[in-house]
Amino acid sequence: MSVLVVGSVNADVTVRAARIPAPGETVLGEEARVSPGGKGANQAVAAALAGSSVTLCGAVGRDTFRAPALSGLTRAGVDLAGLHELDAPTGLALITVAASGENAITVASGANARVTSAHLPTDLSGFTHLLLQNELPSEVNREAARRAHAAGLTVLHNAAPARQAPMEQPDPELLAHTHHLIVNEHELAAFASGGGEALETQARALLTRGPRAVTVTLGAQGSLTVTADAVDRLPAFPVTPVDTTGAGDTFCGVLTAWLAQGHPLPTALHAAGVAAALACTRPGAQDAMPDRAEIAAALA
Ligand code: ADP
Repeated sequence: MSVLVVGSVNADVTVRAARIPAPGETVLGEEARVSPGGKGANQAVAAALAGSSVTLCGAVGRDTFRAPALSGLTRAGVDLAGLHELDAPTGLALITVAASGENAITVASGANARVTSAHLPTDLSGFTHLLLQNELPSEVNREAARRAHAAGLTVLHNAAPARQAPMEQPDPELLAHTHHLIVNEHELAAFASGGGEALETQARALLTRGPRAVTVTLGAQGSLTVTADAVDRLPAFPVTPVDTTGAGDTFCGVLTAWLAQGHPLPTALHAAGVAAALACTRPGAQDAMPDRAEIAAALA
């Protein structure tokens, strides 16, 4: 059963330096590393490695960053029939990693910001699941979710990164067409009324606005999922983390892949948590993601 990911594709340029530069300051770092990234591409790679047939719809430019941006997708066997080449630079994330482990990221959206609803596939008959993030223009997400919902697909939305609430509120129409919303604690706050309620109460409140499941990822504390009739608190799979970059993307991609493979929600959540933890044991985002065999071995 096939997964359609509509989302961003970036090249990540990472520099390790002693610290994050202050405004106006220049800090000398080590050599730059270029790796594939973008939440859409990351989640598509995670789902494909987990054994699903995955198609990515998105855009890159015709520049030198196109090849590194696509390298992980190609290696994981993601179908790029929905990928468009536009007259715009490939999306680029400029990442500074400090010796403390903190990072600062500037994203130049480039081609991702030029994706329109006209780039969406017109025939959704081959897909059972749609997976969205927040790195494409919101009208594209809204239209993709609307069409997928009408065509009977299950719509999963990872509302990351958080929009700049309260300036930009989560889109009520997108939420209404989302079956499963996945957020971290920070992103959940963008949806909340600001009353300081418990996480479970905040997540449960969203069930009245469209989704039939809401998952809050909690880093080393695991995840919390609420549905109309159940609460599933999953502790994190114990690992010694080396680099948590891409943990959330691995979680979302593997959750979608396992649901698309017909597993019940609790089983899919368990696999997603294990896969995300495994991704924390290696540096990088796409490079760190486990494949189906590694996930199965850890689950056994
Ligand atoms: P994001 O990176 O989007 O903020 P989280 O940090 O919540 O997402 O991580 C997503 C998931 O990855 C968690 O729900 C958990 O399953 C797993 N994870 C993250 N950090 C760890 C960790 N230190 N140990 C084990 N699993 C982790």
